[in-house]
Amino acid sequence: MKQYPISYQNTDDLRQSLRQFRDSHKAANVVFQIFSATLEPNAIAEVCNAIAEECPGVPYFGCSTSGNLINCMEAPEISVVAIVFERETSHCMVLQYDVRQNDMDSVTDDITRMTETYPWVRALEFYFTIPDGSYTAFCEGLKNVRPDVQMFGGVSCSNDITSADCCVFSSAGACSSQAIVVVMYGGEDFHADAIKITGWKPLGRKFTVTKSDGSNLQELDNIPAYEVYHKYLNIPNDSNFFYNTLEFPLFYEHNGITILRVPTASNPDLSLTMSSDIEVGSTVRISYGDPKTIVESIAADSSYIRDFSPELLHIFSCAARKTFWAMKESAYELEPFRDIAPSTGFFSHGEFLRANGCLDQHNVTLIIAAMREGDAIRTEHAVHETKVLSKIPLVSRLATFISVTSLELEEMNERLETANQNLRKAAITDGLTGLYNRAEMQRRIEELLEKKTKLSLIMLDIDNFKQVNDTYGHQEGDAVIIALANILRSEQTRSISHFSAGRWGGEEFMLALADTDVSAASFIAELIRQCFENISFPIARPQTVSIGVTQANEKDDSDSLCIRVDQALYKAKKSGKNKVIVI
Ligand code: GH3
Ligand code: MG
Ligand code: MG
Repeated sequence: MKQYPISYQNTDDLRQSLRQFRDSHKAANVVFQIFSATLEPNAIAEVCNAIAEECPGVPYFGCSTSGNLINCMEAPEISVVAIVFERETSHCMVLQYDVRQNDMDSVTDDITRMTETYPWVRALEFYFTIPDGSYTAFCEGLKNVRPDVQMFGGVSCSNDITSADCCVFSSAGACSSQAIVVVMYGGEDFHADAIKITGWKPLGRKFTVTKSDGSNLQELDNIPAYEVYHKYLNIPNDSNFFYNTLEFPLFYEHNGITILRVPTASNPDLSLTMSSDIEVGSTVRISYGDPKTIVESIAADSSYIRDFSPELLHIFSCAARKTFWAMKESAYELEPFRDIAPSTGFFSHGEFLRANGCLDQHNVTLIIAAMREGDAIRTEHAVHETKVLSKIPLVSRLATFISVTSLELEEMNERLETANQNLRKAAITDGLTGLYNRAEMQRRIEELLEKKTKLSLIMLDIDNFKQVNDTYGHQEGDAVIIALANILRSEQTRSISHFSAGRWGGEEFMLALADTDVSAASFIAELIRQCFENISFPIARPQTVSIGVTQANEKDDSDSLCIRVDQALYKAKKSGKNKVIVI
């Protein structure tokens, strides 16, 4: 693949350059790429017409931008580039979908179908206009595209990045403010790969999305989402909200990857409009651009692209990055890519990349798509020397300070929360057996009585236990207690109704069974008795347990109910032990 910038001083110059190009590439497989930093319809039409007339039949595609790049340098207001495929096996096809006339499902169904119809397709490149709603339907609609197809792209915009004015155009459709242009690349010798780079870092504490409706983000940690930007960054709720939050996108995990999203507007109800859906339950943080991290991640990722040995790079860089670096330095972060391969690119209003099989929409992100025909040519190359910023800006130091302090606080809170949970658990648990303790059992019995549901109690007491201790020692006694507790715990786990098991005293246990009448309870009691009797302890051999069972009546309070089950147990002891008695 080769890239030829087409000179464009004025219409005559453009037409002459096109004719020259055509004469020197007669039979070549070509596509023209156009980036326009102006929205002037006549200016765009002039270029499209010149291509259509001077190079009839050659496909073209393009979009409006917030700045054009050729070979990582700022390019003229309207930039025209010819991409020439050198292999006969390579193909390129341009499609355009009007999103006013087609719903998103039919667009994505058609794109999916096209990739099936044309098995040569290896990469899909998208040029979008700014949509009314969310991009989520588009991304999800393409999940069935063959997994070997790379997808990348960007959203067109204009020099005023706070406005929704933008357009896309191609040889497959007219210039439109509501359309998607799709460029299909492929062929058996065609290869593509794409990566995303941000370098943005999370800042401060995390928030959980507690309320959202599609792309309308309503609440973070149960407070209106806008309040977060107001409280922590002092950003007013006005028409400049988008511009002010641009450098502080939300940082969150989606489909297993990290995504940055800028709110596109704040609303009178204090919700935020996002450009894609944000799910309830996801964790987000405000993030900020740290020049040092950005430079480092670009240096690391550029070597991945270099190893791919591309012949062409297509760069989609968020307009926010241009604002971040301040106009003059916009190309600074792209420097490591300049000597890898010829490139074109533009400043976009949203970036797209397929990763882990899923297409995702990003903001504040740099997408580098690498393409080549034929095998990778491995060349030894010197490690690119990235200019290290001599002085780390104060703001970056302060941001690090904030992030580290909030992370420390978060960790401390997590430790406190775990300690609290352990304390709460310890307060209701018996230490030896891990069952509930007596106080918790009493609380549960009272709670169940209040609910007025059917309730039965089972009380158990190990027979002649003093003798076990006296004969075999306290340790063996403990083992016998634990064995009975384990039987009760496994009954509790197995039970479908509400079943609480607790240690009532030394070798006494209590079970509370909700929605269980006395006959079902006595059946369970008998099972437990038999199960315990069948255990052969290494030293104490078999032991037995006596059991009392009763069911609560309407007049019972917890005292009367516990006295009655104790009486049933007493009867079992009196009448010979190792039995179940029901009262
Ligand atoms: P009965 O058949 O009438 O229930 O007779 P028993 O010997 O089981 O009853 P008694 O109440 O006389 O004895 C209970 C014994 O349980 C007394 C006490 O030392 C022992 N015990 C209480 N808690 C523990 C414990 O945590 N571990 C051990 N090993 N023994 C305990
Ligand atoms: Mg006892
Ligand atoms: Mg006993």
